[in-house]
Amino acid sequence: MSQPITFYPSATPTTVSPPETWPVKDILALYELPFHELMFRAQEIHRAHFPEGDVELATLISLKTGACTEDCGYCSQSIHHNTDVTPSKMLSLDTVVAAARKARENGATRFCMGASGRSPNDRDFEKYLQIVRAVKSLGLETCMTLGMLKEEQAEKLKEAGLDYYNHNLDTAPSHYTHIISTRTYQDRLDTLGRVRKAGIKVCCGGIIGMGESRQQRAELISQLANLNPYPEAVPINHLVPIEGTPLQDVKPLDPLEFVRTIAVTRIVMPEARVRMSAGRHELGEAIQALCFLAGANSIFYGEKLLTTDNSEANEDRALLAKLGLKTHESTEVKARMPGLEEHDHAHSVL
Ligand code: SF4
Repeated sequence: MSQPITFYPSATPTTVSPPETWPVKDILALYELPFHELMFRAQEIHRAHFPEGDVELATLISLKTGACTEDCGYCSQSIHHNTDVTPSKMLSLDTVVAAARKARENGATRFCMGASGRSPNDRDFEKYLQIVRAVKSLGLETCMTLGMLKEEQAEKLKEAGLDYYNHNLDTAPSHYTHIISTRTYQDRLDTLGRVRKAGIKVCCGGIIGMGESRQQRAELISQLANLNPYPEAVPINHLVPIEGTPLQDVKPLDPLEFVRTIAVTRIVMPEARVRMSAGRHELGEAIQALCFLAGANSIFYGEKLLTTDNSEANEDRALLAKLGLKTHESTEVKARMPGLEEHDHAHSVL
């Protein structure tokens, strides 16, 4: 017998509309379609809402790494787990601005900045505001992920020019306590509500392959799709088990289930940028190609451009070129430079 599903309403009444648009059973029914039928439906919806078919590139930087007091079971940065992550202090403003400039030169339009921790303290928070103002002044879209936010913090980030805030639901409500004990599902929904209320766009998704059932994957997607409005960006991560974390030995998920999850996400949140996030490279080219076909249209690109190793970025360039996929900024530049051949530009940007 299937277990009862609880929808978690937000404490902020403007965030979640109670009668849900996408009940779990309807999402589960999508998951259970024959693969080719699911892919066809996802493609139809994807083409209707993104006729240009481009892929958004976002560059990611870690402002502060490790020493996190939360106990997220998948994360190498938690003090509760025995991993080889060395905690680092917050990057200086100059370092972040230099990295943002480099990302912009490499074609990124969005600069995503993450910091470990449960929530920002007052001293760090002032620095984050300075960073947002500085990165925004370079003409980049800004995104931050800093953990739980208070209402006034969300408002100040908005005033500083923050475009997006990332805060994931991670997994289904019914699986959540197997993964995290130091904050509740409702805490997450409350932060999302404050971000929305402040007028910042929402980036919110989850991680699959953490030992959850298909029904629980459907629960997660249902929670996301029933946010009102649903997130503008939905990162779908595939667990990369990290030694020393409680999930290090979790049974690997069938990669086609990841593709199905992308397709279902595309169908129920038709206007969102669906991002293939962590675990993408481990899936290989063929599965990534199927994910693009299923409606993924955003990737993290060139994380390693900010350090020394360009190999992953080179693989990304090769894959996008092989699939003939345009990038989001290349579409915009082409509009400004109509004589430019699409492929030439794709190569120059990527
Ligand atoms: S809050 Fe973030 S940094 Fe901390 S353990 Fe969870 S995922 Fe890792």
